Amino acid sequence: MSPQTVPTETIKQITHLAAALKAPRITESAARLADHARDAGWTHEDYLAAVLEREVAARNASGAQLRIRAAGMPAVKTIEDFDFDQQPAARTPVQALASGAYLTEHRNVVLLGPPGTGKTHVASALGVTAARQGHRVLFATATDWVARLGEAHDRGRLPAELTRLRRYGLIIVDEVGYLPFEQDAASLFFQLVSSRYEHASLILTSNLPFSSWAGVFGDQVVAAAMIDRIVHHADVIALKGASYRLRDRGIDTLPSIKAEQKSLD
Ligand code: ADP
Ligand code: MG
Repeated sequence: MSPQTVPTETIKQITHLAAALKAPRITESAARLADHARDAGWTHEDYLAAVLEREVAARNASGAQLRIRAAGMPAVKTIEDFDFDQQPAARTPVQALASGAYLTEHRNVVLLGPPGTGKTHVASALGVTAARQGHRVLFATATDWVARLGEAHDRGRLPAELTRLRRYGLIIVDEVGYLPFEQDAASLFFQLVSSRYEHASLILTSNLPFSSWAGVFGDQVVAAAMIDRIVHHADVIALKGASYRLRDRGIDTLPSIKAEQKSLD
């Protein structure tokens, strides 16, 4: 049967049924694939599978786009954009993380390194990868997380908020240590870490080595308990060297940068 002889009623019905399924794309793919199926002599089953497959692929792609947008990453970066020649030691561990196995195992990732070495880039790229793999992701700086949890706490809704956040397969906490926490903030952050421990993954980035985290959390005991939970099941990746932002500018030897690098070596 040539496309011209398909009854208009049937096409109308497909359009109507696709809309009822909230899959309007099916109208277009059904018509296009029908011509192809007739030419290629597909079985009915081949044809149905091809139409459904297009719809599922389109849904997955738009679901990933929605999850990437909802995650609040500062910029959409990818693993492919990352120049591992600048960070050769990170290549194997980061590429292994891209498989997403750490998410189903509820393991964490800690990215340490001086400013400009790609911590936020790698964290965001892993966020994008996780979203593409079907996980819900949320990205914010440590300061923003504390503000958000503080708000929930003030409304008496902290436990509910922590439970809700567990439905996110990945939470990214960027810039731990850029600002020291107040004691209340440290306690909120500790609760976030505890609530996700062995339930769902965290990615943390910090310009400070673990040995300086006590200063950030204002308390040796809280810092130790937190690091213990974070690192128990974690990949810790140290990014090294001069800032990628300042490369080729001849200013990667500023004394402050040298000092920061030293603290991480
Ligand atoms: P950090 O969070 O460690 O301070 P960023 O991840 O923000 O550093 O990196 C600073 C900028 O340099 C970003 O635009 C990032 O995409 C880029 N960048 C850093 N390292 C690399 C790299 N190895 N390959 C490609 N781009 C990089
Ligand atoms: Mg950063």
